[in-house]
Amino acid sequence: MFIVRVAPISKGITKEELYYFSSRPYESGSIIKIELRNKETSALVLESKDALENKTEIKEADFQLKKIKKQSPKKILSEDFIWTIENFSKNNLTTTGALLDYLVPSNILSFDGIIKPQTRARRRKYLKGDILILQGEESERITHYKNIVRESFARNESVFICVPTIKKGLKIFESISRGLGDYVYFLNGSMSKKELLSNWKKATENKHSIVIIGTGQFLSIPRNDIETIILESESSNAYKSQHRPYTDIRDFIENLSEKTKARLILCDTVLRVETIWRYRERDISELYSPRFRYPSGPKTRIADMTQYKTQSEKKVFEILSNEIKHLIEKDVITNKKNMFIFVARKGLYPFTVCGDCGEHVLCERCGKPTVVQNYKSSRIFVCNGCGKTRPTEERCKHCNSWKLQALGIGSSLVLDTIKKAYPSVPISLVDKDTTKTTPQINKKIKTFYSNKGSILIGTQLALEYIENVDLCSVISIDSLFSIPDFKMNEKIFSLLVELRSKTKEKMLVQTRIKNKELIEFALRGNIFDFYKKEIEDRKKFLYPPFANFAKITIIAPRKSIEEKVVEVKKIFSGLDLELFPALHTKSGSRTAINIIIRVKKENISEFIKRTQKLPTEIIIDMNPTVLT
Ligand SMILES: [Zn+2]
Ligand SMILES: [Zn+2]
Repeated sequence: MFIVRVAPISKGITKEELYYFSSRPYESGSIIKIELRNKETSALVLESKDALENKTEIKEADFQLKKIKKQSPKKILSEDFIWTIENFSKNNLTTTGALLDYLVPSNILSFDGIIKPQTRARRRKYLKGDILILQGEESERITHYKNIVRESFARNESVFICVPTIKKGLKIFESISRGLGDYVYFLNGSMSKKELLSNWKKATENKHSIVIIGTGQFLSIPRNDIETIILESESSNAYKSQHRPYTDIRDFIENLSEKTKARLILCDTVLRVETIWRYRERDISELYSPRFRYPSGPKTRIADMTQYKTQSEKKVFEILSNEIKHLIEKDVITNKKNMFIFVARKGLYPFTVCGDCGEHVLCERCGKPTVVQNYKSSRIFVCNGCGKTRPTEERCKHCNSWKLQALGIGSSLVLDTIKKAYPSVPISLVDKDTTKTTPQINKKIKTFYSNKGSILIGTQLALEYIENVDLCSVISIDSLFSIPDFKMNEKIFSLLVELRSKTKEKMLVQTRIKNKELIEFALRGNIFDFYKKEIEDRKKFLYPPFANFAKITIIAPRKSIEEKVVEVKKIFSGLDLELFPALHTKSGSRTAINIIIRVKKENISEFIKRTQKLPTEIIIDMNPTVLT
């Protein structure tokens, strides 16, 4: 008899390891099936020990050991990958099993066939922890990727290109695979089980050097000849998981490449402020001299929307500036140019506020702001978070006033306004409400490009689908500045630079904000001055990279939440705590509170140690995407 120590692969299990009986030993690092809570679950074997030699240990175990069914174990992950998972989970507030569940496709875990990884001697070792940056526009980056692939193939090495989204992966795949057909694999979560297994098998068993393009989940592919990992669009939010285990794939890749000694190249049009900081501190190096200015670009202009006043000097809320009207009349209608219009929010009006007391209208279910939308011939409130709808005919929940005012500019409002003013212009809209599927989006994009002199309005959703456009107008971006997120400046800046790089002739930004410095930097493609300003602010306010944020979310019945907060405070006593009521207030008797803790670099290991005392139902997210 043997005792087998395993890590159950499941996000629901908070225990790091479990013990089982077995009639045979299983090699550590192999994947087996165990019975857990009456369900068959995959598990990673950590260790097998002879039961006879470990009698006392069995006696001391205060639980009944279950038996493992006889089976043939699978060796589907590389030792380096498993080692990285185990180490990473220790330092990142999660378990080996939860991380495996997140980072290995379930279809691969449950696959019963045989895959024979190619193992080969490595030709060249890069220095340990060799991290390089590549900052350039997308077309330049792709040219570099092609060169990297060519050079790697010449040295018999493989390349992994990690992408944030399937759409991005497809684009890279299409540009890289020309002429390399059988050696480029695009692995992604939208593949059917059959397709995935067949591609995974081919990519693993291919004797030639290959390129793998994939989202983070596919880093688990067991090829030991990957000497270069390219992290494409490294500033993308998509790399950070919004749910347990709250993993940041970028951090994991750094750990993995350090272990496998592959070089890691961080790539983007505008790298994260933290990344540029590391480069300037000489913590990481460069592949090519990075670009901090993109001098060539379209003609740009800022329209100050506060200039519109009545004769009595009262401010008038205009949706379209004189500048955009001019662009539509001269360039779109007369010269048949195409224009993309960016609007940050969907719906008609992103917010509704009480005219008497200032209270925001919020969703009754989840507490997020409601958006006013057209519905048949009337209007409804739609929750921005959970999508719950209700009629707009209501009084202020706080003061009972009827004076509810819809505010802001949503994409549908822009659509209605332009349609009314210029009924002859072909116009369409891409946002989460209007286009719900990828084919729907693709169809609208295609129509836009094939109709000269047309307009496409889009939110963030449309950005990935837009290639080059003649003209670009940003109608509303101001609302983004008020989001409580220390990374918001960086996000707005990157967004504007990206739009600029896609615009061929003219770009216009409408704004009501006073300090237009950030917009000006973006419209000039001036990353350097933006960075200088931003890093100064971060230093002043002790934001990353100068400190880390931890978000601790406590969800509990109203009556006992105070108790829980006290408990958490005690665990972290001596550290700076900031309390925020969470936006995701659960309905009924339960409520939620976020505690934000700023953790200085030197205190991080002490902090991690203390988190182990937290009750398991408390959620902790390091460097979250949003603070509230
Ligand atoms: Zn009110
Ligand atoms: Zn809601």
